[in-house]
Amino acid sequence: MDFTAGLIPLDAALEQMLTRLTPITESEMLALLQAFGRVTASAITSPLDVPGFDNAAMDGYGVRLADLADGARLPVAGKAFAGQPFQGDWPAGTCVRIMTGAPVPAGCEAVVMQEDTEETDDGIRFNAPVKAGQNIRRSGEDIRQGATVLEAGTRLSAAELPLLASLGIAQVPVVRRLRVAVFSTGDELQLPGQPLAKGQIYDTNRLAVHLMLEQLGCEVINLGIVRDDPQALRDTFLRADAQADLVLSSGGVSVGEADYTKQILDELGEIGFWKLAIKPGKPFAFGRLQHSWFCGLPGNPVSAAATFYQLVQPLLAKLSGQRATPLPPTFKVRAAQKLKKSPGRLDFQRGILRTAQDGQLEVVCTGHQGSHIFSSFSQGNCFIVLERERGSVEPGEWVDVQPFNHLFGG
Ligand code: AMP
Ligand code: MG
Repeated sequence: MDFTAGLIPLDAALEQMLTRLTPITESEMLALLQAFGRVTASAITSPLDVPGFDNAAMDGYGVRLADLADGARLPVAGKAFAGQPFQGDWPAGTCVRIMTGAPVPAGCEAVVMQEDTEETDDGIRFNAPVKAGQNIRRSGEDIRQGATVLEAGTRLSAAELPLLASLGIAQVPVVRRLRVAVFSTGDELQLPGQPLAKGQIYDTNRLAVHLMLEQLGCEVINLGIVRDDPQALRDTFLRADAQADLVLSSGGVSVGEADYTKQILDELGEIGFWKLAIKPGKPFAFGRLQHSWFCGLPGNPVSAAATFYQLVQPLLAKLSGQRATPLPPTFKVRAAQKLKKSPGRLDFQRGILRTAQDGQLEVVCTGHQGSHIFSSFSQGNCFIVLERERGSVEPGEWVDVQPFNHLFGG
C-alpha cells in the first residue's frame, strides 16, 4: 500500500500558491539608508554618465603621444588631483602630473603610471611603451545616462544602494512594507519567562516567525498565543484579517485535532488543508481570507520554521513584487556519513557543510532530525535536500545541499 498517495509535492504546492498571488503595488519614496531590504517599485535609470568625465586610473603623468619621441623628457606643466582639475594652458612638449580619479586635461591621450617613469633634471622620462588611451577611464564606460541600473522588483542590499548613491540618487521608490499578522495556537503553549504547568511547553514558533518576517522587511502584527477555542480563534482570525496582507498561524493544521481551525477557516475564507510530500512539514494550510492571504504552519517548531523558509519566504517575495527567488542555489556535494531516510517525501535534513581534508566540500547531518529538535538550525548551516523516492544515503554518495540564507544566520 502506498502511504504517500495524496501528498502534494513541494513544487506543485509552491506553484499553486505563487500563481494565485498578485503582488501589491502601493509604494513609497525612501531615503537610501531607510530602503535597505526593500523592493524597488519601478525601474531606476541613471541620471548621469558614470564615470562623469574621462579620468586617470593611476597616479602618474598625462601625456600627448606626439610628445613621446624616443628618449623624450617632458617638463611638468601642472598638476591634476581628484576634485581639482588641471587649470590653464598645456604647452606642447610637456606633461601633467595626475592622480587617480582626477579629470584628464583636454587633449590627454594616455596616463603613464608613475612606476614607469623617472624624474630627471630636464623633465619626466618614460621608460615603457605608451599606448593610446591607457589608464584613462572613459566617461560613461560603466553606466550611460538613461540606462536602467535596477529593474523593478529588485531587493535592495549593500550591493544596490551604494550604486544609487554613486549616481547621486538620494531617494528610491519602494513597495510598501508587507503587513503580516502572526499568532500561535495551542492550549499547551506558555510564554518564555513564565513557569510551566504540567504538560505545557514554551511557544517557539511565534518568535521564529516574527524574527524571520522582520529580516524579510515585513511589518509584524504579533497577536500572541490563541487557545484551542473556537470563539477565540474566530476573533483572532478576524482581527488578523482586518489588518494584514498575510495571516500566519502555527499549530492546529494537522488532521484530527484541527477541527475548529478547519471549521472556522471554512467559514471565514477559502482554505486548502494540504499534506505536503516534504519532511519536516507535512501539514500546511494555504488560502484566502476576506482581505488577506493565509498560511497555516505546522505546530512542530522545526516543521514551522522549515515550511516558513521553503514556502512562505517565496510567497512573501512574490507578494512584495520581488522578481528573483530569495533561496540560495542548491548544489551537489558528497555525504561524509550515512543519512537515514525512507522513500516517500522530499527531506530537508539540517546539515553541516564543511571543507574536507582534501579541500572538497562535504556534508554531515546535525544529528537527530526530529521535528522538535530546533537546535538543528543553529548547529547546521544548510539543508540537505534528499529526493522524494530516495532511501538512506551511504557515505560518499552525492547529495544536494542548500546553504541557509540570512534567515538562519547564513
Ligand atoms: P499541532 O499541529 O497543533 O498538533 O502541534 C504539533 C506539535 O507542535 C505539538 O507537539 C505541539 O505542542 C507543538 N507546538 C505547536 N505549536 C507550538 C509552538 N508555537 N511552539 C512550540 N511547539 C509547538
Ligand atoms: Mg495544537
